[in-house]
Amino acid sequence: MTNSEKLFNKAKLLIPGGVNSPVRAFNSVKCSPIYIEKGKGAYIYDVDNKSYMDFCGSWGPLILGHARKEIVEAVTEATKSGLTFGTCNSREVEMAELLKSCIPFIDMVRVVNSGTEAVMSAIRLARGYTGRNKIVKFDGCYHGHADYLLVSAGSGLLTNSISTSAGVPESAVNDVIVVPYNDIEAVKHVFNSCSNEIAAVIVEPVAGNMGAVAPVEGFLETLRELTTETNSLLIFDEVITGFRFKAGAYASICGVTPDLITLGKIIGGGMPLAAFGGRQDIMECLAPIGNVYQAGTLSGNPVALAAGIATIKTLIKDDGYTKRRELADKIQKSLNSSSRKNDWNIYCNAFMGVFTIFFGRNDAPENLDDVKICDTKKFAEFYKKMLQRGYYLSPSQFEINFISAAHTEENIEKFIIDLKEILKTLL
Ligand SMILES: *Cc1c(COP(=O)(O)O)cnc(C)c1O
Repeated sequence: MTNSEKLFNKAKLLIPGGVNSPVRAFNSVKCSPIYIEKGKGAYIYDVDNKSYMDFCGSWGPLILGHARKEIVEAVTEATKSGLTFGTCNSREVEMAELLKSCIPFIDMVRVVNSGTEAVMSAIRLARGYTGRNKIVKFDGCYHGHADYLLVSAGSGLLTNSISTSAGVPESAVNDVIVVPYNDIEAVKHVFNSCSNEIAAVIVEPVAGNMGAVAPVEGFLETLRELTTETNSLLIFDEVITGFRFKAGAYASICGVTPDLITLGKIIGGGMPLAAFGGRQDIMECLAPIGNVYQAGTLSGNPVALAAGIATIKTLIKDDGYTKRRELADKIQKSLNSSSRKNDWNIYCNAFMGVFTIFFGRNDAPENLDDVKICDTKKFAEFYKKMLQRGYYLSPSQFEINFISAAHTEENIEKFIIDLKEILKTLL
């Protein structure tokens, strides 16, 4: 038995399912999870002394790679002055200034401890600001685990949203309308039916939680038009996309400006830190100015802020965005050409430095139904072989893989060779 297996067996007796977040149990790839002891650059090392080239990057935060010098130093330095004060501190101001300078439509911003909290706060704020209750979300987009966002589409578009977790009562999801991603007509239909009740539309502007799925032309623009016309708010959940494709928001790339934005993952540089921000008149509805309550004992934690600030500053300084994009595109091009030649029936969807390999389809998916047809059994077989070969991909068919600043051209070339060799044996 490996050390990882021993630890997991023990963990299962102490922690539900052995894990502190369900996907880590590796259920969908049908193998035992590995326990990681350390990370450096593009690699992680497990408790059995095996190394893996990492494409998960702690689910996205580690765009600069593991244990990047600038970040570790900033955190180490910050800890020397204490871990938390629960008071105002100068890094809060520095972070707010930094976020505002990178994302011009942010007038004001507040930091919190997780993406879940950022989204939950942004939604409460949207409801408080508009005095309306209904939220429009898209099937396959993930916005953290707040009760009313654990929901999927029911049989009818405007009714019967279904909670996807026990412990979430139907009453919690009654005010959430779930629409297929990229379905412009469906959103228009919803707005025709109840626009004066809609507080906000929340969307991942590039979907990253059903694999990489890009917005179709006109989708985000339509959301902007509909919300503007009806005085509801548009919230971009950029917890994954923020600082992923440029040192700023995806909103600035696609040219659609939301009223509120949520950020997380990268902006914490590996520490628990997230944020929500946007227009001043909306943000000033928050307590203590306004009557929308929002708080946090550890919000604005100086050590987390040190990691986040160092990460953003490094991203601004050494712009690796073009390189990451090229490397992901290279994987896509090479894999899809082999797939066509050999009839593998897989499709690698790359988007500006992230990618997903979809098993059992030949083209880019546009929504959750397109993704759901994927061959998860094949993916699981593939996953196990890649793991054995020393590659740590995100452990689910419905997740994205990230290229970090630590991945070299040579890394990716070797990855592609091994990838194809394994696919040849499987497909
Ligand atoms: C990860 C994620 C969240 C939740 O963030 P946590 O820090 O895990 O709570 C919310 N929205 C999106 C788009 C995410 O990818």
